[in-house]
Amino acid sequence: MLTKDLAVCIRAIDYSETSQIVTFFTKATGKISAIAKGSKRLKSSFDGPIEIFSHGKIVFSDTKKEKLATLTEFEAASGGPGFIGLHKNLFALNCCLFAAELLNSLTHDYDPHPELFESFLQFLHNTNEQQTTSDERQDMLALLILFQLSLLKEVGLQPILNHCANCKTSHERRVTPQDALRRNDEYYFSSSANGLICRDCEASFPDKMRLTNTAANCLSNLNMIAEAKKKTLTEIEKVLIHHFTEILHRQPKMAKHILRG
Ligand SMILES: [Zn+2]
Repeated sequence: MLTKDLAVCIRAIDYSETSQIVTFFTKATGKISAIAKGSKRLKSSFDGPIEIFSHGKIVFSDTKKEKLATLTEFEAASGGPGFIGLHKNLFALNCCLFAAELLNSLTHDYDPHPELFESFLQFLHNTNEQQTTSDERQDMLALLILFQLSLLKEVGLQPILNHCANCKTSHERRVTPQDALRRNDEYYFSSSANGLICRDCEASFPDKMRLTNTAANCLSNLNMIAEAKKKTLTEIEKVLIHHFTEILHRQPKMAKHILRG
């Protein structure tokens, strides 16, 4: 059976002199891995080798029982094959590669997430457009953080950021982190608690990371992320990388390229 879908390439590896194995995140089918036979030939039905982040319409044999589907058509969206502009900016490219790695690690084959498909494409577009601005690195980190949080939400791992993940609303006086922060309270992030932890609860969570007030405020009010300073964004990204490392039981490969940045 042939399936048509919209897709973005999140991984492409050489399989032979002429073929590739590609992983697509598709809108209606979810993640699929497929063999693109002859894609590296000069004349193929795929307009040349398929590059990571290229997106468009695909047709593939949908056998499901076999691990690899067979890609029969790929028609890249107008504007050329993917996001060529990214290659001009290493940090932007690394952010996109990191997002793709996390998307690949946290989703299952044939498990559709249409909204996540849209938010990933939007992330790639926004990242590509940000590159001409003066403080591109700051903007890029903000986009990456927002994508990472939407990814966690879409795969059912949304962190609890609007109150203490442990004691919830039981402290009447401490309704939101903003209220707490006004009183110069302390907040932490704990991966095992999957969210923010207040000062009263922090002792029970050895994996906690202390947050600055600004970072805790940004996490509990995501509208602040876009305006946050690079220092705060770097702090939040470190916390998220720690969190993804705990979830995946290994540090994501691309993480070191982001922190080094
Ligand atoms: Zn608490």
